[in-house]
Amino acid sequence: MPLEIVTIPCLSDNYAFLAHDAESGKTALVDAPEAGPILKALETRGWRLSHILLTHHHWDHVDGLGAILAEHPAQVVGAAADAERLPRLDMQVSEGDTVRVGGEAGRVIDVSGHTVGHIAFHFPETGVVFTADSLMALGCGRLFEGSAPQMWASLQKLAALPRDTVVCSGHEYTENNGKFAITVDPDNSALQARIKDVAAMRGHGEATVPSSLGQELDTNPFLRADDPGVQRAVGMEGADPVDVFAEIRARKDRF
Ligand code: ZN
Ligand code: FE
Repeated sequence: MPLEIVTIPCLSDNYAFLAHDAESGKTALVDAPEAGPILKALETRGWRLSHILLTHHHWDHVDGLGAILAEHPAQVVGAAADAERLPRLDMQVSEGDTVRVGGEAGRVIDVSGHTVGHIAFHFPETGVVFTADSLMALGCGRLFEGSAPQMWASLQKLAALPRDTVVCSGHEYTENNGKFAITVDPDNSALQARIKDVAAMRGHGEATVPSSLGQELDTNPFLRADDPGVQRAVGMEGADPVDVFAEIRARKDRF
């Protein structure tokens, strides 16, 4: 049976997620931006946390940890590479390791770039990947610590997952991301349609996260650095996709 996924808005534009296995009653929290809304979501459903999966060390993904652990003494899982920077770590993981939530094993993917040591968690049976600030809806995280080649390689790992994979990313940045995306992929009709959909959803106060990997492959410029239309729009036809990605990321930083 697939995990039940709950999206929890936190702070001003962050998302945390619950992944619940009904059969075993195990529940994993992915990231801990703040305790209040997460504790409420658990209480409403009568769920107890068994795991807290941390994607990276930034404060807006870990600051709620202490207050959540005070009520839910769960096992904290995070990157071995970030052991010194995460507030607490009970299980250190690296690329290829698995984390079992009840009946389903999640696989750890190293998606360094935004930070070095940023990890994603892929649950293949449910068909969901928790990407936080690596692959985002119509965007990707800023390169605070890693390099463009590193982030491009990380994104290629995510791009290789099944198209119908649900992408649970860390922020509600989609509308602004769309405004930039159209500048480097102006003739993409799927992108034009998605921008309209996103505007309508935001108009109704709806979350645009999660998205699907198929949507991202078709419309997210950071996955499309090898696309002829994108390459033409940035004046880099035939260039190495890594260089095109670096150019798009640099343009977004200035946007
Ligand atoms: Zn971050
Ligand atoms: Fe963040």
